[in-house]
Amino acid sequence: MHKILTIGEILVEIIATEKGDGFRQATPLIGPYPSGAPAIFIDQVGKLGQAAAMISRVGNDDFGHVNLDRLKADGVDISGIAVDPLGTTGSAFVRYRADGSRAFVFNIRHSACGTIRFDEATRALVGTCSHLHVMGSSLYAPSVVESIIAAIEIIKSAGGTVSFDPNLRPEILDSPGMREALQAVLAKTDVFLPSGQELFLFTQAKTEAEAIAELLAAGIKVVVVKRGADGASYFDRKTTLSHPGFAVEEIDPTGAGDCFGATFVTFWLNGAKPAEALEFANASGARAVMISGPMEGASTRADLETFITAKKG
Ligand code: ADP
Repeated sequence: MHKILTIGEILVEIIATEKGDGFRQATPLIGPYPSGAPAIFIDQVGKLGQAAAMISRVGNDDFGHVNLDRLKADGVDISGIAVDPLGTTGSAFVRYRADGSRAFVFNIRHSACGTIRFDEATRALVGTCSHLHVMGSSLYAPSVVESIIAAIEIIKSAGGTVSFDPNLRPEILDSPGMREALQAVLAKTDVFLPSGQELFLFTQAKTEAEAIAELLAAGIKVVVVKRGADGASYFDRKTTLSHPGFAVEEIDPTGAGDCFGATFVTFWLNGAKPAEALEFANASGARAVMISGPMEGASTRADLETFITAKKG
């Protein structure tokens, strides 16, 4: 069985229960919820029953243990997640504005996951994995970039594959070395999973068709463009497919792209036809937005089958 690996940030999310323009006005909060884009991704892989592992670092605090407990319960190999007795686990506070956009306060730059170390034990763990998923948001810290580049080398030279979701927030895009790191990962990517304008990050192309053609010509095998409530599209050298979004009530969009990507990659690695992988990934993204909390909406395969059957009526 393919074992899927991810490397990067673990944090908790704390959610304002009342809408408002940021956190200058007091609000009741709920949480902590386990979070971090690569953590959500790998939790969703584990929930599907696929072998999964994560390399990260947390503080020896409750925020770290909330994540370790959840990932372990959902079947993820957490042996590569170090517990740093001197570090702290990061946090993100999120509050919805009246217009549906979100205000964040991040406390992650100096958290334990910025000092992930690539040692003999992590190298051995990478050797047991056949696929690496990279989140662009993880490439803000030099030690994480080094670990990801080292893991890509090991996995690709053993015949494995790499998927890449830029997952970029504008505030991190200009971190030193970030654009170079994104470019280095893209050059090794087999499955590229951009959302909206992220498709145009690495190209001068003006249209979506030109951008896709350029990426496929550069050696990427599959491009999947995520389109929020409008679903997603799949492109390889022979096939172009789109799947509309499933009609659901959006409660919390955090984690949708990660659950979508995890489901797509799991199905793709297991040889599913593109249409089936896209349908299950869409269902996974749709179910994720229906539930509050970044990792709370991850689905089992049975959840997805029931959901798709119900939606098809
Ligand atoms: P990201 O979170 O990476 O920006 P999207 O917002 O495009 O990605 O969401 C990823 C996927 O989740 C979409 O392609 C779609 O399948 C699903 N999704 C997201 N929002 C909704 C929604 N409001 N209704 C139905 N499906 C959604």
